[in-house]
Parts: sequence; structure tokens; C-alpha cells
Amino acid sequence: MTGPLPRDATLFVAGHRGLVGSAIVRHFAAQGFTNLLTRTRAELDLLDPHAVDAFFASERPQVVILAAAKVGGILANATYPADFLYQNLMIAANVIHAAHAHDVRKLLNLGSSCIYPKHAPQPMPESALLTGPLESTNRAYAIAKIAAIELCDAYRAQHGRSFISAMPTNLYGPGDNFDLETSHVLPALLRKAVEARDAGAPSITVWGSGTPRREFLYVDDLADACLFLLEHFDEPGPINVGTGVDVSIRELAEMVCDVIGYEGELAFDAGKPDGTPRKLMDVTRLTRAGWSATTDLRTGLARTAAWYREAPERGDVPSPSV
Ligand code: GDP
Repeated sequence: MTGPLPRDATLFVAGHRGLVGSAIVRHFAAQGFTNLLTRTRAELDLLDPHAVDAFFASERPQVVILAAAKVGGILANATYPADFLYQNLMIAANVIHAAHAHDVRKLLNLGSSCIYPKHAPQPMPESALLTGPLESTNRAYAIAKIAAIELCDAYRAQHGRSFISAMPTNLYGPGDNFDLETSHVLPALLRKAVEARDAGAPSITVWGSGTPRREFLYVDDLADACLFLLEHFDEPGPINVGTGVDVSIRELAEMVCDVIGYEGELAFDAGKPDGTPRKLMDVTRLTRAGWSATTDLRTGLARTAAWYREAPERGDVPSPSV
């Protein structure tokens, strides 16, 4: 199913409090959607199949965006693999099955670039899926996300469902997790640079060697891509969502310091893992479909820094949340 989504369609955003879900709610509301359906974790436990089924039965969403996940950076993934595997499998199974059982017209399942093998060709095309071993530091999370793609494709093959899967690259933006233990690199460096600048500290610590390369997509661009895909894309398998451009962690750290106005040194901590050496999406499929990102890294960093400055809960996010 493709074509314009009626602006009054009942659209359930699972995970609306997260980085991705909150951007989707902002963007879809701005695009005129009037029936966005959301539930907090206290209101609806996505790990509970009966609760999820009852919710779909009573609210009858027509469109679903699955943006709920247990997420975290390299350290959190390596420390809590059981939580990452179990919770993400359960969320995907419960929501995707309920979407089928209750006749949802279109479902967009969101994954991550870490589904691709550690040594996938760079940039990584969608065809690299399941062609080699995964990066060990986030294997549990990746396997849950691969299972979710397979679920969407299985319901499509067996039941003719319009369930699609988009794989965003590393995301950042307003609403990110700034907790230094569990966050991803970009918010961590942003916070460190702000705190070092304010304290007049001589250096900030950057984990690893600084040589790994990563691609970063501003989360509002992802929200825009989600609407585009719901309206224009209906095929099995993952579709990558990224910018097609990457930077080294050192380059990222330098740009963050520049944007924040911090002039100290970078101290690389070799005791922390580098993770996968490079992670860049091949976005040919999406570009051909007609969408590309518009927010460059420096602009996105400045917007995220402005949000972080104002955020009431600045830095207090205790752990990554579902
Ligand atoms: P990944 O993309 O799944 O590897 O997750 P991260 O965003 O956590 O890490 C990306 C890279 O940034 C890794 O090489 C990290 O070692 C490096 N890095 C440098 N400084 C930091 C930091 O303060 N926090 C995090 N999470 N990563 C950092």
C-alpha cells in the first residue's frame, strides 16, 4: 500500500517518548496528522502480549510506527545483552503480531545500522544483511532487530501485510540520552564539551582511538523519511536511512568542541572499546525512491546543543528507556 496517508488516520507511535518517537510525533503533528495515538510505558507495557493485543483491539490503529526499543551505546549494549535481546524481541513480536491480528493497514518497523555484519562492505547496502558475523558489542540488539525485519517480511509473505522496515544510521537530536555511561558518542561528547567549557577543564575524554568512522542523521530528518516511506514505499527487506556521509570520532569531537566553543584538548582513552571500525549506510535505494537528508552535521549539532542548554532534565536521563 502506497499513496498519501489521510491526515485523520489513527496512527500509533510506539515509543513516543524516545529520541525517534518524539521527533516523529513533532513532525507528523506539524504535517497535519490529527489522530496520533501514544501510550507511556506505565499505560501500556509493550513487553506484555495481552496488554498490547487489548490495546489494538480497543484503539484500532490504522497505521503503526514501531519506534519503541531498548537502546543504548556501546557500553550499555555490552553490559546488558539479555535485556537488549529479550526486550527488543518481545516488543517487536507483540506489536507486529497485534498489527496483523487487528488489520493495521501499514506498519513501519524501525531498526538500526548495527544489523549489518561487522565487516560489511562500506558503504553498507541492504543486501549485506546476514552475510557475515555481527559486531560483538551489540550483537544481542542487532539480532532482535533482524528478527523484527524477518517478522515484517513473514507477515507480508504469509498474510499480504504492508509491513516495512527502515534502518536508520546513528541518530542524534533533541531528546537524546545524555547520560555518560549509557549514551551514544555524540550526546556524550556534547555534554563533556559543555561541562569542560563551563568548568574551564583542560581536556575532555574521548573513548577509544578516535579512528572509527560513524555516520550521523539528525532525528527530524528521520521523522521526515518515515512519512515519506509510509507514503511511497512498500517492499520487503530493510531500507537504509542515512546521509551517505561519515566522519571519524576525532573529527566529530573536534566539530563538537568548535560548535560548543570549547578550546581544550582531546584525551583518547584506549581502555574503552572502538567498536566496529566503520559504519556508513549505502542510501542508494532511498535516494532512488526520492528522499534524501537535508540537515548537515554542524547545523544538527548546533540545534541539539541549543536543546540541551534549555532541557529541564539536562543530563539527568538515568538509563536508556523503552
Ligand atoms: P556504536 O556506534 O554502536 O559503536 O556506539 P557509540 O556511539 O557508543 O560509540 C561510537 C564510537 O565512539 C566508539 O568507537 C566509541 O568508543 C567512541 N566514543 C568516544 N567517546 C565516547 C563517549 O564518550 N561515549 C560513547 N558512547 N562513545 C564514545
